[in-house]
Amino acid sequence: MTSCVERAQLILAHDEHNPQDAVVPPIVQTSLFTFSSYEEMVATYRGDLERPVYSRGLNPTVRALEEKIASLEMADDAIAFASGMAAISASILSNVAPGDRIVVVRNVYPDAFRLFGTYIKRMQIEVTYVDGTDHAAVEAALVGARLFYIESPTSWVMEALDVGALAAMAKKQGVFSVIDNSWATPIFQNPLELGVDLVVHSASKYIGGHSDVVAGVVAGSKETIARIRGEIYPYLGGRIAPMDAWLLLRGLRTLPQRVMAHQESALELARRLCERDEVVKVYHPGLAPLPYGLKGTTGLFSILLADHVDMRSFCNALELFKLGVSWGGHESLIVPGDVGLQQKSEPNSARAFGQSPQSVRLHVGLEGTEALWRDLSEALGTASKS
Ligand SMILES: *Cc1c(COP(=O)(O)O)cnc(C)c1O
Repeated sequence: MTSCVERAQLILAHDEHNPQDAVVPPIVQTSLFTFSSYEEMVATYRGDLERPVYSRGLNPTVRALEEKIASLEMADDAIAFASGMAAISASILSNVAPGDRIVVVRNVYPDAFRLFGTYIKRMQIEVTYVDGTDHAAVEAALVGARLFYIESPTSWVMEALDVGALAAMAKKQGVFSVIDNSWATPIFQNPLELGVDLVVHSASKYIGGHSDVVAGVVAGSKETIARIRGEIYPYLGGRIAPMDAWLLLRGLRTLPQRVMAHQESALELARRLCERDEVVKVYHPGLAPLPYGLKGTTGLFSILLADHVDMRSFCNALELFKLGVSWGGHESLIVPGDVGLQQKSEPNSARAFGQSPQSVRLHVGLEGTEALWRDLSEALGTASKS
């Protein structure tokens, strides 16, 4: 485990070529770049010279981020987007056409699930959901499919899948595989090494790490990234702002140390919650042996409260854990499962991705294990009706 963390620390601690030997790269906050001569402009348009033209295409601050992400994921190349969903939609749209079928593991991130059920469906692309732990079912579903969409661990119920085995099944059938690696981060899981074709992250989570940026990244082979850069990035236009790319470069510096701290606190709290009679079930991948290729766990997991625990009192009694969506920052957060089920627009889809009325998702931040335990423990006591 230390070796993957140490490798990442080395990649992230220093930059090689910052202008004026600045220790931190500049924020190149510009929409366009001028040419010094007609000849230089022609050479650039002809492709003889590679240099920035317009920041919807190439921006040096964004490029610096993409290079770090590619190194972390052991990829040829990477490309950054304005959100995790822009990264996910670009990864899918650059690899499918009407008439194709996509296989998706169950319990994926809710908005990915909604993308498959709306726009992707309207493009005449069929979507089949499978239990990612049932390899026979996956193998059968992959026959004749075009793309396999994996997330591991999955959202909400945190199923840790055998990514290497799933990637091998896709490869055997000639199916292109994509994984959402936001939860494990490039520190604890490198899916390309396990045989997956393309890896996406919501950089809004641990990569940013400070709850101040919404962004996404994709890493993969030279050809795959070139296809996204050529067909999707300029025309759908979901480009990341230079300032946001810079904030991610800043966040990345401490990614290894932060995920280690999230891991330690969350695992300890998960173990203690298992002992409480107010808690029926704890969904944390670290409570069982991890699948091959997953080298650590992070701060997000879920619990199922016993029927005698009142959800409203539990949520309102917590002081350090704030009610809020998203995760990956310094602050601890909870999302009560029954709120998703009351969503006006989509009353049923929350259940489809694993939420249930007594379930709660927790993000364990960096406030310290003992303070967070006191908060959880007292709130469980207060909310217990028996
Ligand atoms: C948040 C999230 C996304 C979407 O990312 P945005 O940056 O919010 O667009 C995708 N996948 C997972 C697992 C997420 O948690």
